[in-house]
Amino acid sequence: MEVGPGIPRRCPCGAATVVLTSKTKDNPGRQFYRCGVVFGENHVFKWADDAVLEEIEALAVK
Ligand SMILES: [Zn+2]
Repeated sequence: MEVGPGIPRRCPCGAATVVLTSKTKDNPGRQFYRCGVVFGENHVFKWADDAVLEEIEALAVK
């Protein structure tokens, strides 16, 4: 199962994604989507602003 462009609603592992807020020094307060179960390789991690941008682009193409 592949995660397409846009907001990732489900991780390839089958878990629903969650929205969290970054607390790192580089990206403070930036929101991201993450696999709701496992944080690691082969699981969803995507910045929310990137995902929203992709979602808008996908809509514009249709
Ligand atoms: Zn996962």
